[in-house]
Amino acid sequence: MRDFTADHSALALNTASLGHNLDGAGAGWSPERVIDACAARGYGGIVFWRREIGARAAEIGNRVRAAGLQVAGLCRTPYLVGREAPRDAAELYASVEMAADLGAPVLTIVTGGTEPGSKGVIETQKRLADRVAAIAPVAAAAGVALALEPLNPMFGGNRTCIFTVADALAVADSVAAPNVGVAVDVYHVWWDRTLAASLAAARGRVLGYHLCDWLENTRHMLLDRGMMGDGVADLHAIRRAVEDSAGYRGFCEVEVFSAENWWKRDPSEVLDVIVDRFRRHC
Ligand code: ZN
Repeated sequence: MRDFTADHSALALNTASLGHNLDGAGAGWSPERVIDACAARGYGGIVFWRREIGARAAEIGNRVRAAGLQVAGLCRTPYLVGREAPRDAAELYASVEMAADLGAPVLTIVTGGTEPGSKGVIETQKRLADRVAAIAPVAAAAGVALALEPLNPMFGGNRTCIFTVADALAVADSVAAPNVGVAVDVYHVWWDRTLAASLAAARGRVLGYHLCDWLENTRHMLLDRGMMGDGVADLHAIRRAVEDSAGYRGFCEVEVFSAENWWKRDPSEVLDVIVDRFRRHC
C-alpha cells in the first residue's frame, strides 16, 4: 500500500466536494478557479461533473494539464436503466464524447434503478449489461474506460441495481470488454465485510477509488457524507484491499457530498482540509 503521509500527488479532487454536482450548491467557483486552487496545493488530479463542463470540455481539459494536473475522470453517464434512464442513447454517447474531449480516462457509471415493469434487480442487471456492452466499444474507440460504481443498498429502487463490488464485477464479467471495470467508493462499500475478497477477484479492474467517510449519525443518505477521519469507515483497510488485492495505483478521489457542512464552507478551507486529512487518515 502506498504511503501518503508525506506525498499527496495521488490525491484528486472530485468537484462534488465543493457542491458542483448540484445546482445552487457550494460557492460556485469556475473550473478555472478550482484548477488553480488545486494546483497551488499540489493535488494531482481533478474529477469534474458534466454539468460544469458544458461545451468547454477540450478547453477545460487543456487548462488542467497546463496547470500540471491530470483530469482523473468524469462524473457520470446518464442512468442506463430504471425509470429515469433517458429513452434514447444520445446523452450517453454525448457523455462518452465529453470524457474524450476532456481527456478523462474514466467515465463513471451510476446505473439507475430497477426497470419499470420488473421487480428486484436480476432482470435489470441483465439489461444493464446489454447497454454497457453496446456503449463499451464506442468508449474504447474514444480512449475512455467505463467504471461501474456500486452504491450502498439504500440507493436501490431509483438510483442503482448494483450494490457491491461483487455485483459490479459480475456485470463487468458478463460484458467482458477490456475497458469496463469498477469504481470503489468508501461511502458505498465501507460496511461490506466481503469487500476484500471481492477486490481480490477484481485485480486490474478497479478504475477509480473514491474517498469520504461514513458518519456515525448520518442525517441525509445522499448529502451528508463525512470528511475522511470524521466517521467510522476503516479507510486504511479499504485502501489496502483496493491496492494490495486489486492492484489499484491510480488517483484517490475525494468525493464529499455535504450540503449542511462542507458545502457551506469556503472552498479554500475545504481544499486545505482535504490535503491534511488525506495525508493523516487515508
Ligand atoms: Zn463515488
